[in-house]
Amino acid sequence: MPTDNEFTRILQWPGYRVYQHKIDEKNKILELWVRRKRGNRKLECSCCGRKFEEAYDSNERAVRDLPWSEFKITVHIEVYRVPCPDCGVRIEKVPLLPSKAPFSKRFEEAVGEACESASARQVARRFKLAESTVRAIDLRYLERWAAKRRRPALRQMGVDEIHMGKKQKFLTVVCNLETAEPLWFGRERKQETLDEFFREELSGRQRRGIEAACVDMWEPYRLSIEQWTPQCKIVYDKFHILQHANEAIDEVRRAEFFRKGGRMRELVKGKRWLLLSRWMNLTPGQRRGLNQLFALNRKVFKAYLLKESLDRLWTYHYEGAMLNYLEGWIDQLRWQRLEPFQKLAMMLLEHLEGILNYCRTKVPLGVVEAVNGNIKTLLRRGRGYKNLRYLLLKAQRMAATRTELVVFRKAA
Ligand SMILES: [Zn+2]
Repeated sequence: MPTDNEFTRILQWPGYRVYQHKIDEKNKILELWVRRKRGNRKLECSCCGRKFEEAYDSNERAVRDLPWSEFKITVHIEVYRVPCPDCGVRIEKVPLLPSKAPFSKRFEEAVGEACESASARQVARRFKLAESTVRAIDLRYLERWAAKRRRPALRQMGVDEIHMGKKQKFLTVVCNLETAEPLWFGRERKQETLDEFFREELSGRQRRGIEAACVDMWEPYRLSIEQWTPQCKIVYDKFHILQHANEAIDEVRRAEFFRKGGRMRELVKGKRWLLLSRWMNLTPGQRRGLNQLFALNRKVFKAYLLKESLDRLWTYHYEGAMLNYLEGWIDQLRWQRLEPFQKLAMMLLEHLEGILNYCRTKVPLGVVEAVNGNIKTLLRRGRGYKNLRYLLLKAQRMAATRTELVVFRKAA
């Protein structure tokens, strides 16, 4: 049977020694009682950090620590209270105990690390904890990580929304385009939503430091940005514009083939996503399939060409050339009677400044999309992100460690 001294050497809690132990071999539980070593008597107020020589009184707390072999470890630790003149009688600061919850710091770290690559449910099973406990530990783990890291400056921001389903509807996501990291979540997608970000999260200096914002052509966001950061250039995101082009071609497809029953309907079936894909991403067989479709309907063919050629707009570096290309693109719509594309052209002209701004201020394209993709992955994987703060920290951690950055390939 090991002695308390040996237990102290195995436990390795700096500054603490084991003075009593109890082994329950049947249930595989090892309990250790620890207190400060002689010479480790500098107490600190947990509230303000003031140092004390004398304690007010002492107490015992039981926390779970990392397992030893098959044994579950419970450590009973003697903690003191200090008579702080500023804060009143307070508990001392114990670095080994990061929160009021009954776990040691290294136990929480182990659970938090496990949560980075596994779902809360899997981690719960492995550590024999409740799932809600695992989430609470993970949240504290992430909060500690966030508290001690330096925040990069925000020069280019992305704003986008995520559709959360019928009940919660939209979530506004603000991200840092340079670090590809989400910064803030807000409920809904109103002007007031984004206003809240500027008001609550940034100082006047930080707001003045923002040079560009990459957004969807969504009026409330534009209004908010113009109000809070007048110097910031609004750049309409290529991926959003191409999304609108995809919606337009989908509309043409529906209008052209909807009423045609029978054989024609059969032929078109399953080609929807082909029409939404880029030509260069298709296999020869898929290209043949599309060509069959085009042979049947010239309008759909024309619409496909328009959609395919729109993304060349972002290859230009001079706004004159970009504008020329856009005008040429719009010219092709003449006599085509492609209603959805006409609407798209109107939309592009109305947002012309923001499209041309891409030539004036280069922003990385596709980051907004990648950030959103990561958040959606998290949402799909683990239910129970009712706590938006938790979701945000999780997504930030993911971006910082780059574990699973979803590259947005489809429209690339
Ligand atoms: Zn104090």
